[in-house]
Amino acid sequence: MATATIPITFSKNPGATLAPDSYTDVDYSEKLRLWEEVKADIRFPDYMRGCYECGICVAACPSARFYDFSPRKIAQAAAREDVELIYEQMNDDVWQCSQCFSCDRCPRQNSPGGLITILREVAVKNGLASSREALEGYGRVVYKIMTTGTQVSPDMLQPDAFPDWGPDVRDVSENLDLWRRAVPPETLHTTSTSWEVSQETLIELYLIWYYSDVMDMIEEVDEGLHMIILDVMEEALEDAGYEL
Ligand code: SF4
Ligand code: SF4
Repeated sequence: MATATIPITFSKNPGATLAPDSYTDVDYSEKLRLWEEVKADIRFPDYMRGCYECGICVAACPSARFYDFSPRKIAQAAAREDVELIYEQMNDDVWQCSQCFSCDRCPRQNSPGGLITILREVAVKNGLASSREALEGYGRVVYKIMTTGTQVSPDMLQPDAFPDWGPDVRDVSENLDLWRRAVPPETLHTTSTSWEVSQETLIELYLIWYYSDVMDMIEEVDEGLHMIILDVMEEALEDAGYEL
């Protein structure tokens, strides 16, 4: 009688979900290094306390309705310290989250959305290709916020970068003047900024961004954008009397 051979696969990570075709070109030690960076974040113990795998976060999550995405799987992978799966999620999944924090109703008092924030930041700081791709369409948004201190205006829609917004976004962006005349709210009458930010506030924001690692993160994902913002920022700070 023939004896069946049972394949046995050993993983360096005992809790790992085996994903043999996924990111095998990246060393386990590199994936572990990124996971250690996530865990070292000061917010991590508040965002991740274990997981009941109850799925309440999925039921509350708007992104889970539209994408192949589950905050439960991400929380579960973190609770099990599944380094391989976490690396995969850091590349493929975390950018589907809309950061609404509806998942904060977790009975275990986790914040899957907060955990995803950390995973994204680590992905950006380490220049993962997925983070560059995910943030490609936000160049103008980041530039606007970081040079004026205020948020986006409607003329910054980039339809090519957001195919999931549907066909209407192209029509809206191409005929923005018409839409602006048709829609009465005051805030839609401007294309430059949504409200005025005082110079004092702007300088304060520049100082925070300049001396924190925010600029390093931008450099990792877009060197050109980093250079432009840095120029604007340094000139304003020097004009305000700061020696950099
Ligand atoms: S993160 Fe919280 S809500 Fe989501 S599955 Fe785990 S215990 Fe349940
Ligand atoms: S923060 Fe992200 S994971 Fe949480 S409910 Fe919102 S979209 Fe879902």
